[in-house]
Amino acid sequence: MHELSIAQNILSMVNSRVEKEGIQLEATAVTVMIGEFRNVDPESLEFAFDAMKPSFEFCRNCLLKIISVKAEGICTKSMHSFHPEKQNGFSCPICNSAIKEFKSGEELDIVRIIISTIDQGRLECTK
Ligand SMILES: [Zn+2]
Repeated sequence: MHELSIAQNILSMVNSRVEKEGIQLEATAVTVMIGEFRNVDPESLEFAFDAMKPSFEFCRNCLLKIISVKAEGICTKSMHSFHPEKQNGFSCPICNSAIKEFKSGEELDIVRIIISTIDQGRLECTK
């Protein structure tokens, strides 16, 4: 179950990020973009994240937000934009030519971390 190690990676990245910002702070939310081809099950990831977060000092109240990104490809012959499928070797369903590049679908990125202080407002940072 690779969701466990993904959750652990996210938590340790967020944790060290908050640690750098200073004391009296904690992460309250982290947003992660996950591409379709990563084969990550969002429910398992959330479950693993919630199970592990108590052991990360600055993430105990952190919520995980997942943005699922659909895969998109561009074909070689006509630059069609399409949804690549493994079953047909990722070829273009319109003109049948091979895929030139994957525009999306392979993301696994932390896009936003919300860090809060206990008595002050919120601090927002992107990676
Ligand atoms: Zn095409």
